Amino acid sequence: MTTAAKLNFSSGPATLPKQVRQAAAAAISDLDGSGIGILEHSHRGPEFAAVLARAEANVRAVASVPDNYAVLFVTGGATSHFTWIPRSFLGADQNADYCDTGVWAKKAAQAAAPFGNVHIACSSASEHYVRIPDTLVLSTTTQYLHFTSNNTVYGTQWQRMPSVAREVAVVCDASSDIFSQPIDVNRYAMIYAGAQKNLGPSGISLVIARREFLATARAGLPPLEDYQVYDRERSMHNTPNTFGIFMIAEVTNWILQQGGLEALGSRNRAKATVLYDFLDSSQMWRGVADPGSRSFMNVTFRGPDAATEDAFLAQAQAGGLEGLRGHRSVGGLRASIYNAFPAHGVERLVSELAAFEKRR
Ligand code: PMP
Repeated sequence: MTTAAKLNFSSGPATLPKQVRQAAAAAISDLDGSGIGILEHSHRGPEFAAVLARAEANVRAVASVPDNYAVLFVTGGATSHFTWIPRSFLGADQNADYCDTGVWAKKAAQAAAPFGNVHIACSSASEHYVRIPDTLVLSTTTQYLHFTSNNTVYGTQWQRMPSVAREVAVVCDASSDIFSQPIDVNRYAMIYAGAQKNLGPSGISLVIARREFLATARAGLPPLEDYQVYDRERSMHNTPNTFGIFMIAEVTNWILQQGGLEALGSRNRAKATVLYDFLDSSQMWRGVADPGSRSFMNVTFRGPDAATEDAFLAQAQAGGLEGLRGHRSVGGLRASIYNAFPAHGVERLVSELAAFEKRR
């Protein structure tokens, strides 16, 4: 079996649209007919300037990003922002609220602790993070509320934004569900996402932030950790991840061609529903997440015991279904079915799971 024929259920880096892979392969030798590849072009030249402009324009078009929001391309993954956000916006005697809904949400809260008072506004830790909490309790004065819109490891997703007063600055780690459904950017102070699930390669992140919020950052930050420097210098204070930005431009172009976030949202819902419906009807396999908190990006499920899960994983892998093992911290199985993952791949997984169950 060739690599291209495999179904890649990896949680990230993850499947990319075929057209994007092909565009990338061509651009490595020749960017836009310039005779020089994307990896070799100066970031200060007109060819890369066009790529950067394309990436920003596409991001703005995909999410209808208002003009008073900055669109930033930051070298490094989502984890960088776990530290930079509190360092920028949380003073030693101030409060920030965090929703503790999984591994990454908790890491974000822990990273903020050295900078100020971290208040946990809600937590489902005692229920092994199988659901999104119903209620939030915010500090009386808070610099921001941080939440993780999709919990990659546990397979839960906020079905709507946390409901808070309009004036609370909401900061969202959207790494594993960015651009998977329509989003109202106006309701957020800041959205950030590592690219390697729905946007492109690892090692680069996208930030969409209200400029008024960015202006509240403390003074004297190192330039590469200062969001306003990225905004002023169009993400080019130093040499940016030019290839990563090229990839984000291509992926967002693909999103627009697919019909944008409305179209992707219904497609993603339909894809995940096929799998959840099967799990709900199976005698052998069962979904992990509480039905009201299920993720449409990462579907976590279990078999009757670890031996059965291992037997299925081995068989699936032999059949070209890769990346189905759950995160090492929780075990079980996980199908990551981001934007670019094809519907036929989900159907194939369901038929493998059903056939396995029948044989046993
Ligand atoms: N947040 C979430 C929701 C994630 O899923 C991940 C990575 N899987 C991260 C943050 C960390 O991202 P990175 O490795 O790009 O720093």
